[in-house]
Amino acid sequence: MATIQTVRGPVDSSELGRTYVHEHIFVLDPEIQENYPEEWGSELDRVADAVAQLTALCASGVRTIVDPTVVGLGRYIPRIQQVASQLPDFNIIVATGCYTYKDVPFFFHHRGPALSEALGYEVPDPMVDFFVRDIERDIADTGVRAGLLKCAIDQPGLTSGVERVMRAVAKAHLATGAPITVHTHPGTQQGLAVGRVMAEEGVEPHRVVLGHSGDTSDADHLSRLADAGFWLGMDRFGINIEFPFEARCDVVVEMCRRGYADRMMLSHDNACYIDWIDPNVRAFMTEWNYLHIGNDVLPYLREHGVSEAEVTTMLVDNPRRYFEGD
Ligand SMILES: [Zn+2]
Repeated sequence: MATIQTVRGPVDSSELGRTYVHEHIFVLDPEIQENYPEEWGSELDRVADAVAQLTALCASGVRTIVDPTVVGLGRYIPRIQQVASQLPDFNIIVATGCYTYKDVPFFFHHRGPALSEALGYEVPDPMVDFFVRDIERDIADTGVRAGLLKCAIDQPGLTSGVERVMRAVAKAHLATGAPITVHTHPGTQQGLAVGRVMAEEGVEPHRVVLGHSGDTSDADHLSRLADAGFWLGMDRFGINIEFPFEARCDVVVEMCRRGYADRMMLSHDNACYIDWIDPNVRAFMTEWNYLHIGNDVLPYLREHGVSEAEVTTMLVDNPRRYFEGD
């Protein structure tokens, strides 16, 4: 039992139910939207569309989503509050952190550690204070508190900017106890770099989800990360362009066969609207929707030997344990 912060306030961890641990609602480039708003169109229509998509998800039995939309992905909590207020039986957990594959945002370029060398002493990173405030007080006076921390590492690896954010996330975790989710690139085994930094910062692996772990068929690599204690986010079901449906499912089947159902969590990394993709291309990605796991993935997993108990472990027990920090 633990208290979990959601957009509509605190809930007990026992109330999370079936949980998708990596689903966005809106992914936006705010500066583009402020200057070129044509594609976005009506705010009211976008919110209504999100409510409709998430109402269907809720009706399918999913009680909670974790929305790791942070700085760099267009986080805007008042819009999420509008959506959440129309979903009375549904929990949305939001995050704090910073999403970059290379540099920190320019805002941080000449603050904190960037000044340490010139000044001759260690200057603390203002990012840490931002993250801690989002978790312990609220986000931008909305009354909404972040429930977890997010950072990223992708093919460029542990650049100085990526490392700075990762260490700030680790420090905010140690100060608050909020768990961490990391966007990783398993094809280049970036989870190992996450492991090194987290170990240096004193973060326990069982407080960290290695997101996008399901983007690989390399079960040996995933087993190594799971053995180290990390959670594996098998969380991009429906993004089948480079890694097809069967391959995404088969690696979960294989990891269950190896006994790792208690280390995996499932999700889609979907968004009601994402401005990173041409809408004409997005329209062809028909499997990338919030109902895909329920409609297509779970039947496939069951047909290939994954038990009902393992499904419940991945969808209910593991997210609860991740947030409880047991
Ligand atoms: Zn994502």
